[in-house]
Amino acid sequence: MSLPPDPRSFGVYVHWPFCRSKCPYCDFNSHVRDKIEADAWEHGLTASLTRQKARFDAEGLGNRSVSSIFFGGGTPSLMPPRLVGSVIDTIARLWPLAAGAEISLEANPTSAEAENFAGYASAGVNRLSIGVQALEKNALGFLGRTHDPDEARRAIALAAKHFQRFSFDLIYARPGQSVAAWEAELRQALDLAVGHLSLYQLTIEPGTAFYGAHARGDFALPDDALAGDLYEATQALLTAAGLPAYEISNHAKPGQESRHNLLYWRYGDYLGVGPGAHGRLTLDDGTPLGHKLATRAQKVPETWLAALEAGEDGLTEVDPVAVPDRLTELTMMGLRLAEGVPLARYLRETGLRPDASLDAAGLSRMIEGGFLAQTDTHLTATAAGRQRLNALLTQILPEDVPA
Ligand code: SF4
Repeated sequence: MSLPPDPRSFGVYVHWPFCRSKCPYCDFNSHVRDKIEADAWEHGLTASLTRQKARFDAEGLGNRSVSSIFFGGGTPSLMPPRLVGSVIDTIARLWPLAAGAEISLEANPTSAEAENFAGYASAGVNRLSIGVQALEKNALGFLGRTHDPDEARRAIALAAKHFQRFSFDLIYARPGQSVAAWEAELRQALDLAVGHLSLYQLTIEPGTAFYGAHARGDFALPDDALAGDLYEATQALLTAAGLPAYEISNHAKPGQESRHNLLYWRYGDYLGVGPGAHGRLTLDDGTPLGHKLATRAQKVPETWLAALEAGEDGLTEVDPVAVPDRLTELTMMGLRLAEGVPLARYLRETGLRPDASLDAAGLSRMIEGGFLAQTDTHLTATAAGRQRLNALLTQILPEDVPA
């Protein structure tokens, strides 16, 4: 579980930006449209992949294989299976696909989309992540979801039929939710899960419908003490069931972790395609650390598609990531993981060990306080540290890092 990312491979993230409706808590790049031209999107995604390969090959991407593909959104289960297959085939034509590459797709559990599951499996998808969000009818209504609990259960059963590996998401710390009620819902979830669950606390993000409603006092979230109790109850129940947290919100049986998401948290390389998609690529410029680029695609779907039709690659930002930012990103992502950050990764990203690049006094304070642990090989946030990771990071990330 704790090997650093293989520098000879990278992941590909494909963003499908459309949803049937906008959920009130959602701040993802998702849009509701009456009609979507699948052929135009197939052309756009194919062209963006092909042009990004040409662009980054010229800058030293090298002959690397693709270790994982992730279709995220939006609602990728609105994509016709034929389109999903075409994107997978294009990626496999442009780069070698590593043996056993993980190919994941996010799905919503409505019946119409669940019917596509067999088609996705035939197209090459080998892992499904289902946006269940709640197993209680009233909670689904509050969250603005269009499925009911029975539909969610049917979609999970269908996923189990077609995929050896699947996961589903739940959102907790909802208004009025007691620890006992959440534990009962979690037990139902554990009866349905095979090896992976993503369990997110409800947060209120600016720009969402919930943001205004919460500000108006339409509902209240659990206070910090109750939120802490809900988190602790989650950890206890999932650990006892053999699915400990391998990341703040993600639980898996050993070996069932999401390999694509591990790539992000281990600060590996990934190419992003589709509106608003981000990428991180380390290019070989002959220096020990290489040249890291952050990419971001045009966010608005129609503008992205028009750029592709005009012969562009859809990227609006391609910026070098300086060494101080590499230190910050590696630390922020890696400390989310129970395994922590291998010290060798600090050397590869910054040329320095963490005690020579992070704030030494802050590091000592956090270790003495029981929020961080450092061994000969890893820097790790403890369970207490992961629960308050943002505060921890402010203590150890220096303002000035040697470049
Ligand atoms: S289905 Fe997912 S991406 Fe779409 S609006 Fe709801 S939460 Fe956002």
